[in-house]
Amino acid sequence: MNSTLADRLLPWFATARRDLPWRKEPRDPYRVWVSEVMLQQTRVEVVVPYYRRFLRRFPTLRALAAAPLDDVLALWSGLGYYARARNLHRAARACGGALPSTSAELRALPGFGPYTAAAVASLAFGEDVALVDGNVTRVLARAFAIPGDAKAMAWKIARDLLPAGRAGQFNEALMELGAMICTPRAPDCPHCPIRPICRGKDDPASFPAARKRPVRPLLEWRALALTRGDGAVLLARRPAEALFGGLWDLPVERPEGIRILGRVSSLGVVEQTLTHREVRVTLQTARASGTPKSPDVRWVVPGGIVALGVSSLARKSLRRAGVST
Ligand code: SF4
Repeated sequence: MNSTLADRLLPWFATARRDLPWRKEPRDPYRVWVSEVMLQQTRVEVVVPYYRRFLRRFPTLRALAAAPLDDVLALWSGLGYYARARNLHRAARACGGALPSTSAELRALPGFGPYTAAAVASLAFGEDVALVDGNVTRVLARAFAIPGDAKAMAWKIARDLLPAGRAGQFNEALMELGAMICTPRAPDCPHCPIRPICRGKDDPASFPAARKRPVRPLLEWRALALTRGDGAVLLARRPAEALFGGLWDLPVERPEGIRILGRVSSLGVVEQTLTHREVRVTLQTARASGTPKSPDVRWVVPGGIVALGVSSLARKSLRRAGVST
């Protein structure tokens, strides 16, 4: 079956592949890397405009390494999983102007797990190395009718299937099949190129076996929407180790140097569900004045928020406080 699967998959991919901005040949390792990082946990349609903006602002690895983290986070705002942006920036600074060309060397850089290292090494540098993501796990779990938790077995099978010299195309084709045909719900088996050899086609919903979703812990904090007479709002940078670390948000308490004028009133609760957590922010607002003592606290005038890294949750809070984002 091994050679047969690649033989069926690659001609299909040659004609069915989507024309995506990061698929321009010859592949630029930097662009492959940025796209792979953005695509983790995020749909292609969401990623495309972020990718284009990011590449306009940081067209090269050196441009990314030279930029302040704030600028990187600003362009990442709304894409979520901000550790990805922080690691991208750290790795750009660590690799001295060029990405290393093997998955083993890439693994030594911040944010490069087995998947990302294999994706960059195989797609951009032609290394014969397998990869497995959610799409590949699903395709292989169905094609080989893998019972139970399919991830470890999917890695083994992906390595066995890899056609020498064509790993990049093969990896991308498997992921494309998972995204376009062998989708989580309602896979399009009648149009699938590997249907004749697929062992799970009669019951694709059984593979991979459903996993129990862990209960999301609840994270709660208080936030203060402090506004000045000219419409500016006070924002504070979140601590690096916190959720949304390095992003700008409403402060959780009155910052040093700031005086609250008049009454503090409630704006209710703002909630957001993240993949691994529920977050609930209790919001209050007041007029304020003064000059913050910390460089990580600043007044931001209306229109200035677009230049800052701000999470979707913080935007929700700002809108609740009547601040335009
Ligand atoms: S035949 Fe169906 S279940 Fe099997 S790989 Fe193709 S789309 Fe997935």
